[in-house]
Amino acid sequence: MLRKILIANRGEIAVRIIRACAEMGIRSVAIYSEADRFALHVKKADEAYCIGSEPMSCYLNIYALVDLALATGCDAIHPGYGFLSENAQFARACKERRLIFIGPGADVIHRMGDKTEARNAMKAAGLPVTPGSEGNLDSVEDALEVAEQIGYPVMLKATSGGGGRGIRRCDTADELKRNYVRVISEATKAFGRADVFLEKCIVNPRHIEVQILADHHGNVLHLYERDCSIQRRNQKLIEIAPSPQLDEAQRQYIGGLAVIAAKSVGYTNAGTVEFLLDDNGRFYFMEMNTRVQVEHTITETITGVDIVEEQIRVAAGLRLRYKQEEIVRRGYAIQFRINAEDPKNSFLPSFGRISRYYAPGGPGVRTDTAIYTGYEIPPFYDSMVAKVIVSALTWEDAIKRGERALRDMGLFGIKTTIPYYLRILRHPQFRVAKFNTGFVEQNPTLINYSDKPRPEVLASVIAAAMASHTGL
Ligand code: ADP
Ligand code: ADP
Ligand code: MG
Repeated sequence: MLRKILIANRGEIAVRIIRACAEMGIRSVAIYSEADRFALHVKKADEAYCIGSEPMSCYLNIYALVDLALATGCDAIHPGYGFLSENAQFARACKERRLIFIGPGADVIHRMGDKTEARNAMKAAGLPVTPGSEGNLDSVEDALEVAEQIGYPVMLKATSGGGGRGIRRCDTADELKRNYVRVISEATKAFGRADVFLEKCIVNPRHIEVQILADHHGNVLHLYERDCSIQRRNQKLIEIAPSPQLDEAQRQYIGGLAVIAAKSVGYTNAGTVEFLLDDNGRFYFMEMNTRVQVEHTITETITGVDIVEEQIRVAAGLRLRYKQEEIVRRGYAIQFRINAEDPKNSFLPSFGRISRYYAPGGPGVRTDTAIYTGYEIPPFYDSMVAKVIVSALTWEDAIKRGERALRDMGLFGIKTTIPYYLRILRHPQFRVAKFNTGFVEQNPTLINYSDKPRPEVLASVIAAAMASHTGL
């Protein structure tokens, strides 16, 4: 077994990994930027080292982190999610210095991190993939030609995109022309690569993803699916396991597809295969995430499998402890991503000092966070400050528990998305489990939640007013 792990991350996921280490008798090493001096992961780890004054880039300094891990006697590095978690160069650097990277091999990370390569690999493995460009696009003319063939609407995507960025829906050739330049510039800035590709837009799909685990002995299994259709601007807000929108046959089918996908690329460790489900009940492979995900918690809740512990065991070379038929699930789990944003003001970030905090509790409630009373949230990082996970035996009870837990939580000093989630929980369509990725955008009470009208709404109101006046 591993003896000491460096955690190349911060925030709630660093704390989550430290907890797994503590239970497994493994020493944990935290790293922190100067801005994170008072962060919880620094207090909770067995050892902690300041790695620099630049808030973002110090967490991305591959060679410094590898050197630190070796200097402190670690035998492995856990990358968490975000930061270096899907960086093949980092995985390779670890391997070259005989450090275990807790994740899949560098080649698989590289292949799956490239969305066109992943699409081609999955097509070859026999998975259903949305119609789209053969590879990356050469030019805007190329894009227009492909779009003509597959038909509008289309999705223009950055090949190396992630976190919901670098994706634009285009309904017409004009829109495609405009977005082409935009997505390329976005992709270059955010991901350092200008490559883009096209795929058919599935109108109002459900986002269904399958958690998989694979060891180094050829065993692959799935831990059922999560429904992440409740999104805003392609970013997940609320996640549910299992999907209340699938029947048992669909559940088995999609789980099987994910296992085939993982086997076909020689996948190891924990991973997620994301699919879109259209109105006709057809699934399409979307992408593979080669890391632990923000929403792994709800899968842990319904199956009882500790995914981070399994990641560490697999990385140490151990076999998976379960067979597929031994994975049982119970009830429903819902996760709310509590973001430090003001939903009444266009979801603007709301950083600052937390004057008072207490976690929700009681039966069926789990809170993963790195905040505490008096903590000052630095403005440099992701706005997600806590995850509230609730579970119950039925969908109806899980919703009631969600409402209770969100009201139970005390979080003062900053604005959060909690009131927005309470509004979603009360929505009749949500309560009967009928929603797709357009849910938020298509519900007037949710889209007009903000006190300030959105610019496009304002523009149409003004246009209507002008039109009625000129008509006089
Ligand atoms: P999940 O798929 O686990 O729900 P998200 O897509 O929300 O995760 O991303 C998790 C974190 O990683 C977020 O902080 C997000 O901003 C970041 N992230 C994901 N992909 C990338 C990427 N390619 N480049 C930079 N950050 C990323
Ligand atoms: P990321 O790497 O940022 O997670 P994904 O490719 O997983 O990007 O897409 C993120 C979200 O964008 C999906 O959950 C879905 O809501 C939407 N999306 C992506 N591709 C399509 C598509 N072809 N049709 C409709 N919606 C899509
Ligand atoms: Mg995705």
